[in-house]
Amino acid sequence: MSKSFQIAIDGPAGAGKSTVARAVARQLGITHLDTGAMYRAVGLKALRSGVDPEDEAGVSALLADTQLEILLQDGEQLVYLDAQDVSREIRSPAAAAAASAVSRYAAVRHFLVDKQRRIAGATDVVMDGRDIGTNVLPAAPHKFFLTASARVRAQRRALEMEQKGQPVDLDALTRDILRRDEQDSTRALNPLCKAPDAIEIDTTGMTQQQVVQTILDRIGTKA
Ligand code: C5P
Repeated sequence: MSKSFQIAIDGPAGAGKSTVARAVARQLGITHLDTGAMYRAVGLKALRSGVDPEDEAGVSALLADTQLEILLQDGEQLVYLDAQDVSREIRSPAAAAAASAVSRYAAVRHFLVDKQRRIAGATDVVMDGRDIGTNVLPAAPHKFFLTASARVRAQRRALEMEQKGQPVDLDALTRDILRRDEQDSTRALNPLCKAPDAIEIDTTGMTQQQVVQTILDRIGTKA
C-alpha cells in the first residue's frame, strides 16, 4: 500500500461514520482519524474557558493557547486537550453543540485542517468528518458519503447512550441532529456536502458490518 493511501468518509451527525471508519481502518491495518473529535475538543476548550462558542473572536483567540494532541492506543483514538485526556468529555451533547458552533470559524478550521493534513501526509489513513473529501483530502482516491434518516441516526445515538447508562430523550436527540445538520450544511466555510466523486451509501436499513463490507468491496479489499 502506498504511503499516501487515503480514505475519506463524510456525512451528517450520527450516520455511523466513526464506527465504520474505525472498523475499515482496523481491517486495513491503517490509522483512523475522527476529525469531529477535534472540533469537539475546541468546543470544549471554549466551554471550559468561559468563552461563548458563538463568540468568533473569543474562540479564535483561544487557539494560540490550545494544545491539541491525538494519540492512538490499541486502535482507539485518544484526544488530549492541554495535556488532559478529554476523550470521554467531548462526547457530551454540550460539547457536540459547541463543536458545531466553533466549526464555522476560519481560524478554527485552519488550525484543525492543518493538523489533519499533516497526519494524512505521514501515515495511511481513514479519515471521517464533514469536509474530508471536499476540502481536507480532495485528492483521496476513495471517498464515501454516509447518510441515514434523522430518526434512525437519533435512534443509533440513543442506543449508544443507553449502553453507557446515560439518560435518553429520543425527540430531543432528533431535534439536536436536525439542528446540527442545518448548521453544518448551511455554514459558509467547507459545509457538509458530498464530493462529486464520493460514493453515497444510505445506511438506513443496513447493519454496520454491511456498510463496512460495502466500503471494503468498493476499494477492492475483502473483509
Ligand atoms: O462528527 P461529530 O458529530 O463528532 O462532529 C462534531 C461537529 O464538528 C459537527 O457537528 C461539525 O460541526 C464539526 N465538524 C466539522 N468538520 C469535520 C468534522 C466535524 O465541521 N470534518
